[in-house]
Amino acid sequence: MVHETGFYDLLGVEPKSSAEEIKKAYRKLALKYHPDKNPSEGERFKLISQAYEVLSNPEKRSLYDQGGEQAIKEGGMSGGSSPMDIFNMFFGGGGRMQRERRGKNVVHQLSVTLEEMYKGSTRKLALQKNVICEKCEGYGGKKGALEKCSNCKGKGVQIKVQQIGPGMIQQIQSMCSECQGQGEKFNSKDRCKSCNGQKVERKKKIIEIHIDKGMKDSQKISFHGEGDQEPGLEPGDVVIVLDQKDHPVFQRQEDNLIMKMNIKLVEALCGFRKTIETLDGRTIVINSQPGEVIKQGDLKCVENEGMPIYRDPCERGQLFIQFEVEFPDKHWLPEHLMFQLERLLPPREDVMISDDVEEVELCEVDVQRQERNYSREVYEEDDESPRGGVQCQTQ
Ligand SMILES: [Zn+2]
Ligand SMILES: [Zn+2]
Repeated sequence: MVHETGFYDLLGVEPKSSAEEIKKAYRKLALKYHPDKNPSEGERFKLISQAYEVLSNPEKRSLYDQGGEQAIKEGGMSGGSSPMDIFNMFFGGGGRMQRERRGKNVVHQLSVTLEEMYKGSTRKLALQKNVICEKCEGYGGKKGALEKCSNCKGKGVQIKVQQIGPGMIQQIQSMCSECQGQGEKFNSKDRCKSCNGQKVERKKKIIEIHIDKGMKDSQKISFHGEGDQEPGLEPGDVVIVLDQKDHPVFQRQEDNLIMKMNIKLVEALCGFRKTIETLDGRTIVINSQPGEVIKQGDLKCVENEGMPIYRDPCERGQLFIQFEVEFPDKHWLPEHLMFQLERLLPPREDVMISDDVEEVELCEVDVQRQERNYSREVYEEDDESPRGGVQCQTQ
């Protein structure tokens, strides 16, 4: 019984969602609301991270399901990882040490069809990135013309003194706005005109992404050193995370594919020949011999027609086919022919019925009424008063 669903709502998933679905939801939202891409959504990014931190941990998730956010706080399970740490752990952004010497990694998500993952494909992605200014080679201006900032006297910080009460003053230290905390700057005539003293320029870069056969959802493809350039820092990587689109026919489970197939009752009993379009556009034929009986929900498989194995694409997983048997409609067979059909079907079991039994009517079920009853029951369970207690008092 799930009481509170706030964390699930934040990630846009159902309380019964699998760990895999929760992961996928976080991945999408974290990339969308990352401060690099959406600087105004910092609070949202934080909330998403918090929700994921709890729901991705089975112990915390079950505690949350039982007692909500309150239980997490009381249980001392609030975590305390920063949203960025959670993000970096998820996308493999490297430790803090590494981040200081290197620029940060830039993560992009790429939507990929199942066909592309099956056949392999090459996609081009245009990125905007900072590159070192060619004109000044990242120096920002004329060599040797850098002057000590007069505003901060080379300290890089400004100190403001504020009177906050009688005899009380407060010192506020902030980064020098004249030199952006550098302590040095170019005067306007020596500043590089190309980058305006910024040392870097925004440039468009096209990267080619090779989607190899058998690659999977959430698989990462890294472009080493293709992140933003910054003077004195080794650039980080561009990391592409694949996001597999849903397919109308096939569902993927690791290297296997699963599909549903509807067959008629006559095909279930008397055999069939049916075609399947594969993800690379071939047509394959499957057979069920007369005399083989396929039952509702039966699962069959075709070897080597699943997804190609990553890095071993001549091998493929299995294709599973789950059969749904379509029964004929009511009164499809005139009653006087019924006995002929019955003669052909396996015999029924005799039922002994004595004279003193009561005959009752077998009715259609009103599904909507059942659902209404069910939702009322849930509502009653939610109520904290013990069940039946009220009844006893009124009697
Ligand atoms: Zn420049
Ligand atoms: Zn300054």
